[in-house]
Amino acid sequence: MKLALAAGKHDGDFVDAYYGPSEWKAQADSATVPLAEIEQRATALIARLGERAGTDTSEIVRLRHAYLHKQLGAMVARVKMLQGATMSFDDEARALYDVTPPTNTEQHFKDVVARLDTSLPGSGPVPERYVRYRNQFVIPATRVDTVFKAAIAACKERTARHVTLPPGESFVVEYVKDKPWSGYNWYKGDFHSVIQVNTSLPIYIDRAVDLACHEGYPGHHVYNALLEKHLVRDRGWVEFAVYPLFSPQSLIAEGSANYGIEIAFPGEERTAYERATLFPLAGLPADKADEYYRIQELVRELSYAGNEAARRYLNGEIDARAAADWLVRYALMSAAAAEQRIRFVDKYRSYVINYNYGQDLVRAYVEKAAGPNATPERRWTVFSELLASPRLPSGLVQ
Ligand SMILES: [Zn+2]
Repeated sequence: MKLALAAGKHDGDFVDAYYGPSEWKAQADSATVPLAEIEQRATALIARLGERAGTDTSEIVRLRHAYLHKQLGAMVARVKMLQGATMSFDDEARALYDVTPPTNTEQHFKDVVARLDTSLPGSGPVPERYVRYRNQFVIPATRVDTVFKAAIAACKERTARHVTLPPGESFVVEYVKDKPWSGYNWYKGDFHSVIQVNTSLPIYIDRAVDLACHEGYPGHHVYNALLEKHLVRDRGWVEFAVYPLFSPQSLIAEGSANYGIEIAFPGEERTAYERATLFPLAGLPADKADEYYRIQELVRELSYAGNEAARRYLNGEIDARAAADWLVRYALMSAAAAEQRIRFVDKYRSYVINYNYGQDLVRAYVEKAAGPNATPERRWTVFSELLASPRLPSGLVQ
C-alpha cells in the first residue's frame, strides 16, 4: 500500500482509490521515493511473497495471494513505464491487466458496418448516417439529471433485490466538463462514492442506464463497497483499501461494471423499461426505442474497433489523426467523440481493453460458473460473489 501511494506521487492516475490509514497517505505525501527504488522494493516484495500460497489454505486465501502477486507485478510494469520503458500494446495489456486481448481484422469491422447499412434508416455512408440517426436520441440538457436519477433508482432497486448492499452505502452525482472520459466513479471509502458525469458531449438516452449500472448499481460503487465490506472490514485484508488503477483489478472492475448492465436488465427488460419510463422522461419518441436498441446492439459489435485503433496508434503504426479516422469509420463515433477517445487513449493507453474484453470475460465466467439454463437469481449469486472476492482476470479465463 505504501509503495502504491509512493508511485502515486509520480503518477496522478496511479491510485484510483485509497481509504487506508491516513498517516500512510500523509507519509507518502511528505517524501518522494524515486521510481527506481519503488521498482526495486516491489520486486523484492514479489520475491518474498513467493509464487504460491501454501496448499493447506482455503481458496480465498490462495486467491488473495495470487492477486497480490499480480497486482505487484503490474505495479512494477507501470513504474518501469514511468521510467521510460516501452512495450507493445499486447505486452502492456498482459503486464498490467493479466490478459492477452483479442485482435480483429479491418475486414471484420467492414462486415459489421455492411450489416448496419441494411438496418439503419436513411441513406448515405454508415458513419455519418449513424451519427445523424443517433442525434434524435440526445437527452435535452435540462432533463439529464431527472433521467439519470430515475435510471439510478431503477438500477439500485434491481441490484438490491439480489445483492446485500452494505448499510448506509451512498453516492453523489456531479456534472463536469472537459474530461477524457464520459463518467467516473471516485470511491471514497465508508461505502461512499462520488460519480462524475462529463457533459461536454451530447448525452444519448442509452447513457442513462449504462452510467447508472456501470458507475453505480451493480457496477463500480457496489464493487468497491463489497470489497471494503467483505475483504477490508470483515477479513482485515487492508491492502484492498488501495486500488491501483493500472492493475488487473481494473479489468474486473470495468468488465463487471459493463456486464452489470445486462445482469440488471436481462433480455428485453432494458428496452421495455426505457420505452415506458426513460424515453418519456427525456421527452424522446418511445415508439422508436425498439429500433434504437436493435441498432445499438449491432453497433456494440464494433466496440473492439476502439481497441484496434488504440493498438495501432500506441504501437506507432498510425498517428492520432488516422486513429481518430478509424474510430469514425469503424466505431461510428462523431469526430468530437473520436477526439475525446484519443485523449483517453493518450492518458490510459491499453486500459481500453478492460471495458469490452473485460465484459466478455466476466460474462463467460458468470455463465459458465452459474451453469447452463441458470436462473437470473443464480447468475446474480455468482456475479456478486465475484464482486466480493479477489479473482484475477487470468482466473476468469480458466
Ligand atoms: Zn468504469
